[in-house]
Amino acid sequence: MITVVGSINMDLVVKTDNFPKQGETTLGNLYTTVPGGKGANQAVAVARLGSAVQMIGAVGQDAFGNELLAGLKSEGVLIEQVKRTDGTSGIANILLSEGDNRIIVVPGANHSVTTGEIDALADQLVASELVVMQLEMPISVVQRTLEICHESGVPSILNPAPASGFTAEMLPFCTYLTPNETEAEEIFGKNWEKALEKYPNRLVVTLGQKGAQFYDGEKHVLVAGFPAKAVDTTGAGDTFNGALATALVEGKEFEWAVRFANAAASLSVEKFGAQGGMPKRSTVLERMA
Ligand code: ATP
Repeated sequence: MITVVGSINMDLVVKTDNFPKQGETTLGNLYTTVPGGKGANQAVAVARLGSAVQMIGAVGQDAFGNELLAGLKSEGVLIEQVKRTDGTSGIANILLSEGDNRIIVVPGANHSVTTGEIDALADQLVASELVVMQLEMPISVVQRTLEICHESGVPSILNPAPASGFTAEMLPFCTYLTPNETEAEEIFGKNWEKALEKYPNRLVVTLGQKGAQFYDGEKHVLVAGFPAKAVDTTGAGDTFNGALATALVEGKEFEWAVRFANAAASLSVEKFGAQGGMPKRSTVLERMA
């Protein structure tokens, strides 16, 4: 069983030809709600690829909370450990205009999870084959989760997004770290390639359509991305992490796992919405063939 400790949001997407200026009202031409949140996206990516997965997190007692839980359940994600709080569910208010976007995230219920609750769920973490995290939860919760995994020898993947939440204390405790290029630069500086050499087969930097790069103990390995007809790259990183987790739990060697993750992520960008294009295992294997 893979456990994802992370955010569950409703994405409120508005498309417009004109972003409003201060004090201005403009018309939009599309409004839609789509389930998101990095944690939920990663859990769905794992479920689509056929691994058992449970989610630890929180949603509100509101209508979005009901919808988000129903969505996860219909994907086969176990939701027994998702808390319901009195406040609102997390949302991301996404304004899209001609390839540009402006996003406001309100963490809501996601930020109600406490370290005490994580301690109370320690048996769930210890029983997991691998635990996946991002940084849309309280930092103390991520740190505590990493510590429990580390103490009990459960491997963990930390996707350090958004990187502003990353602290150096997290590094010794996580097994795998998966920043994108911008996050790698924020964490390790311009010379992040040098940092790869300190964490062989543990630190992998995703490079958009170029693929992903890591150091195997002897040499740098650039695992090429798969050509894709990109429609919406939202959730590419989440699909990459879900697929990486799936392959690692199956005992695949690191380079194969990264290639599998690249293939899954390349398929995810070909449809609208973070979860919309997340592929099934057979489709990923076809792309790798
Ligand atoms: P996002 O924030 O858009 O979810 P990210 O910034 O976290 O993604 P990226 O490095 O952009 O992460 O993408 C993650 C992975 O997705 C890449 O390593 C690659 O495998 C795949 N990918 C992203 N964009 C493309 C693309 N245009 N074509 C093919 N594969 C892509």
